[in-house]
Amino acid sequence: MIIKNAHIITHDEKNSFIPNAAVVIDEKGDISEIITDGNLSVYEKDHEILDAKGQYLMPSSICAHTHFYGAFARGMYIPGEAPDAFPAILEKLWWRLDKSLDEQANYYSALVCIIDAIKHGTTTLVDHHASPNSITGSLDIIAKAVLESGIRASLCYEVTDRDGQERAAQGLEENARFIERTKKEGNFQGYLSATFGLHASLTLSDETLKKARKMCPEGVGFHIHAAEHVVDEYDSVSKSGKRVVERLNDLGILGPRSVVGHGVHIDANEIFILKETGTWVTHQPRSNMNNAVGLPNVESMMNAGVRVCLGNDGFSNSMWQEWSAAYLGHKIINLDPRRMPANLIYQMAVVNNRDLVKTLFGGLETGIIKPGAKADLILLDYKPYTEMNADNFPWHVVFGFRESAITSTIVNGKMLMKDRKILCLDEEAAHKEALETSESVWKNYHKQFA
Ligand SMILES: [Zn+2]
Repeated sequence: MIIKNAHIITHDEKNSFIPNAAVVIDEKGDISEIITDGNLSVYEKDHEILDAKGQYLMPSSICAHTHFYGAFARGMYIPGEAPDAFPAILEKLWWRLDKSLDEQANYYSALVCIIDAIKHGTTTLVDHHASPNSITGSLDIIAKAVLESGIRASLCYEVTDRDGQERAAQGLEENARFIERTKKEGNFQGYLSATFGLHASLTLSDETLKKARKMCPEGVGFHIHAAEHVVDEYDSVSKSGKRVVERLNDLGILGPRSVVGHGVHIDANEIFILKETGTWVTHQPRSNMNNAVGLPNVESMMNAGVRVCLGNDGFSNSMWQEWSAAYLGHKIINLDPRRMPANLIYQMAVVNNRDLVKTLFGGLETGIIKPGAKADLILLDYKPYTEMNADNFPWHVVFGFRESAITSTIVNGKMLMKDRKILCLDEEAAHKEALETSESVWKNYHKQFA
C-alpha cells in the first residue's frame, strides 16, 4: 500500500515533519520508503493507493499498562458506602469484579477495549489480566480477540495468593503455559507477546514469588504493580523488613525485561534500584487520580535514569487523555506550573513506550515512521491554527489533539479503521454481545454482596 498526500510526523530522533509526502508499505507490513518528491509512478501499478488528502500521518499510540478485564466496571453500581481509599476500592470493586468474569466475559471485555483502542489510535497494549474463576486458558481467549482484531498486545495473568493456593498455582501455570505458546508461535508474527504476571507485593508471599521466579523462563520479564498505594509499602516492610522494590529485587523479580506499574510511594533507594536493574516503570495518572493514591515522582525517576512509560490502567484507550492528565496532574500536586512539561510526556509515551515494545516483542519496531519499522499508523484530520513543529509538537498533543480527529488506524500495513469505520471487526455485533455479557457479569458481582 502507498499512503500519499500526507503530512508525515515521523517521531524519529528529531521528530521530523515531512510535508506532502508518501509512505510505501511492503507486503510484510513494514514501511519500506518515504517518498518526498511526489513521484509515485514506479509504484502506482502494483500498489493499492490511499489518498490521505492532506491529513497528518503519524505513528499510532502504545499503552504500556492496561487491564482489558476492567471493561465492564463502566457504570457499574457499587453497593453500600463508597470506598474511602484504594484498599477499599480493591476489596469492593476489583476483587469482586474479577471473580465475576467467565470465558465469555474475558473475551468480550478484551474485544470492546480493543475496538476502543483502534478508535483512539492505540494499537499496541501491554495487558495485565485477572479472572480468578476462569484462569486456565484465559490468556488464549484474550489472544483470540487480539488476533481477530489485528492489533498487538503483550499478555499475562496476575498471580496472587489472595484467593488461595490452588488459584495461585493455576495463575503461575497459566503464565508459564502462555509464555511457552507465544515462544512456539514466534510471537504470532509480532501480534502477541507474553510477560509473567504478578498482582502486587501485598498479595504475594515469598514462596509464590520464588515459584514464579523459578517458572519464568530466561528472556522473559515480570509485570507487577508496585507501591500503588502506601499500604503496599507497609505490608512489605512488615512482611520482610524491606520496601516493595527492595523485596521484589531480592526475589529476582526486577530486571531489564520487567515492568512495574505505578511506583507512587517508592523512595529514593527504590528509584536507585529500578535504575540499576533497568526495570521499566509505567505511569497511569488518570487511575492514580481516580483512586486518590497520589502521583509518583516521575520527574525524579526520569532524572535518575529510570525508563518510565505511559499506560492507562484500563481507563479509555485514548492515550492523549493520559498525556493531558499527566500534564495537568503533576502541576496541581506540586503547585508548580513548570512541572511535567509536555516534552517529558513525549519521552514517556512515544520514546520509552516504543522501546518497551521493542523489548517485549523481540525487537519489534513500532511507534516511528522510518524504513524498516512496522506500518502501525494513524491518519489525523487536525488543522492547527498556530504553527506546529517538532519542538512544540508535544504541546499540540496536550492542548489540541482529540481522538475525534483520528480518521484511520493501520496496523502492520492493514487498515483496521478507515474513515472512522472499523473494518476488522463487526463493531455493532461485538457491542451487542458485550452488553448482554456485562449484564451477567454485573449479576455475578452483585451476588457477592448478598
Ligand atoms: Zn494496573
